[in-house]
Amino acid sequence: MSKVIDGKAVAAAVLEECRSEVAELTAQGTTPGLAVVLVGSDPASQVYVGSKARTCVDLGIHSRKIELPEETTQEELVKVVEDLNADPAIHGILVQSPPPKHIDEEAVIRTIDPRKDVDGFHPENVAKLALEDSSGFVPCTPAGCMRLLKEAGVETKGANAVVIGRSMIVGKPMAFLLMAKGSDATVTVAHSRSKDLPGICRQADIVIAAVGRPEMVTAEWVKDGAVVIDVGINRVDDATKKRGYRLTGDVAYEEVAPKCAAITPVPGGVGPMTIAMLMKNTLKAARQLG
Ligand code: NAP
Repeated sequence: MSKVIDGKAVAAAVLEECRSEVAELTAQGTTPGLAVVLVGSDPASQVYVGSKARTCVDLGIHSRKIELPEETTQEELVKVVEDLNADPAIHGILVQSPPPKHIDEEAVIRTIDPRKDVDGFHPENVAKLALEDSSGFVPCTPAGCMRLLKEAGVETKGANAVVIGRSMIVGKPMAFLLMAKGSDATVTVAHSRSKDLPGICRQADIVIAAVGRPEMVTAEWVKDGAVVIDVGINRVDDATKKRGYRLTGDVAYEEVAPKCAAITPVPGGVGPMTIAMLMKNTLKAARQLG
């Protein structure tokens, strides 16, 4: 019997921790503030930005939503970020991804004050993660995965962990977190050029799937008793659904779950953790900036 790791419940608990931290900080004279910048009108991005803003308001975090037109230039966007860097009411800044194609996202990220980079994408924060310097910001999704492992009582020390995916948003930071002192996993990072991915996965005590390919990890890739964290969020056409699609992870849940010691579902696993950890990072920024 596998244990289903309830990301909604863990995220709710993290948000309750945040609520008391916000009250403490506010009582000390610092109301934490998060600015979310959205360029263009991508519907999915609008949904994400809306739910980030609502979560802030619910917790008592000052929320600023800056919506810019599709034709905003790189220079205009950089100016917005620089103004937010200088604004003492704002402790966290994020520019919603993906921006329109004419925007150089990497260059914009580099203009965010690293002390306000609550997404943890600035090179200074990437370096701090690699250096195990806890003053930096860890990207929210892998930080959420680590919290899920902890809450589920999963022993990472000495475990063989396989991370599938090497993106800067999920795969690489996940690998750093798992191998860090204290976590002490032995980490393998697989990607699209890896040979014998099923064989690599079968060695894993912990599988982290962050690929973006629906139900790629099947039962024969997973050894009995493994822990599986499914980061993938994929839309799959489904005529039986009102909206015409359903969401599925990178793991074939129905066949993999019975083999696992623990597994995250999609939706309701890693997804809810990302916003919760964003709130945590914003409070950390507010504490550090004062
Ligand atoms: P990404 O930037 O597209 O990276 C995908 C990674 O998977 C790449 O490293 C790629 O390898 C690897 N890959 C692709 N096809 C593969 C294959 N056939 N075999 C092995 N590896 C393969 O994606 P991402 O941003 O990391 O996101 C991954 C998934 O997580 C997506 O479904 C995304 O929607 C989801 N996600 C969820 C959350 C959340 O809040 N739950 C947050 C972020 C992302 P190469 O490097 O060789 O191309």
